Amino acid sequence: MKPLCRLPWHGLFLSPDGRQLPCCTFKSQSYGEINSQQILKSVQIDFLNNKIPSGCKSCLAKEKRLGRSLRTQFDQHLIMQRQTHPKNYQFLDDFKYTESSPYLLQIDISDSTNCNLKCRFCGSHASNQWENDQNELAETHPKLFKKSTKNLFAKMTTSEVLSLIEQNPNLYHFQFRGGEPFLNPKLKPILQRLIELDRQDQCIIDITTNGTWVPQWFFDIIPLFSWVNINISLEGTGQTYQYLRGGKFDLERDIKPNLQKLFELKNGFFCFHVLLSAFNIFEIIPTYEWIQSLKLQKNFKWQLGLVQAPKALSLYNLPLQFRQQAANLIPTGEDPILDQARALLLVQGTGNLHDFFEYVQALDQKQGGDFLVTFPYFKDLLESFNQSSDLNGKEEPPSAPLTASFPNR
Ligand code: SF4
Repeated sequence: MKPLCRLPWHGLFLSPDGRQLPCCTFKSQSYGEINSQQILKSVQIDFLNNKIPSGCKSCLAKEKRLGRSLRTQFDQHLIMQRQTHPKNYQFLDDFKYTESSPYLLQIDISDSTNCNLKCRFCGSHASNQWENDQNELAETHPKLFKKSTKNLFAKMTTSEVLSLIEQNPNLYHFQFRGGEPFLNPKLKPILQRLIELDRQDQCIIDITTNGTWVPQWFFDIIPLFSWVNINISLEGTGQTYQYLRGGKFDLERDIKPNLQKLFELKNGFFCFHVLLSAFNIFEIIPTYEWIQSLKLQKNFKWQLGLVQAPKALSLYNLPLQFRQQAANLIPTGEDPILDQARALLLVQGTGNLHDFFEYVQALDQKQGGDFLVTFPYFKDLLESFNQSSDLNGKEEPPSAPLTASFPNR
């Protein structure tokens, strides 16, 4: 019998806290301090007994809402792999799903928090650049910032991952996220070992990068692989890029040349991942136009993500009326992802505007930069928010009509 989700048998996620989990969307908090093997066992047992493991509830809730999830995505991947590499994946037809150690097909190596950026919507869970700031902000703003957690579990070493690759001959999908994968010391030895094992033809290499640095050795060996997905994280252009992400890096001067070199990869498939937060709701069109300006001929797409954590940066903390203004700037029917952005902006409900402004101001004090200089169209909203808060002595969303004070674009 095929279990509802096959990832606990075929997938492995090396998480930044050192745990090994079935996948990246699996919520391990509810499992306390039990070790990875015990978690995996209990998840397999749950699925074999048609029970939903507690760590999978949010994933399957998302699937109910959106009709897709990592579970459905993985199932589609296996069907595609079975069709394109029948010799290697025929075994799936009668694979026995029992309480057993994984028969790995995909691995997500996200255990490194090495990064060269300190993006405003990120944290020490993904970037080691954030650690000091996060711990200091947790002292001054404990409601908004949590102390950075030390690794609870020993991380897999590079040689342990290399032996795992040798023990699992059908392991074909390698995801590298983080931190910044090109700063992950495991990336190069893993790619080299796959070539030494002559497995480059059946492998899909999946890298999510900030595009600030791509080592020359990568361009020397990656063309040997049959398929490489390059996911590029981008939340805005120009000053917005610098304020949200770049710091000393400039999108045109530093990132674009690296991307153009990556675009020359014949086996490359490119995806721009635009993370929407309360910061960049008015940056969707400039970002879309910048991606279009790259004039990529083939093999590229763009997609949206929503900041879930920190909650203070959720775009749903902004009043609907204000989000409406951003939605009005987006033409309908021009691009399915633009239509999706409009729909996301128009979701009913308003969260906590106070937390957003407090978070932004705390970051400006700690990390420099001036929010209103970068995003002048928030001026009216902030003023009317401060006025309504002062008036009532408590934080109230502004009652006055909101007009995003736009500089001419
Ligand atoms: S159901 Fe979702 S969270 Fe659970 S293992 Fe499968 S993909 Fe991961």
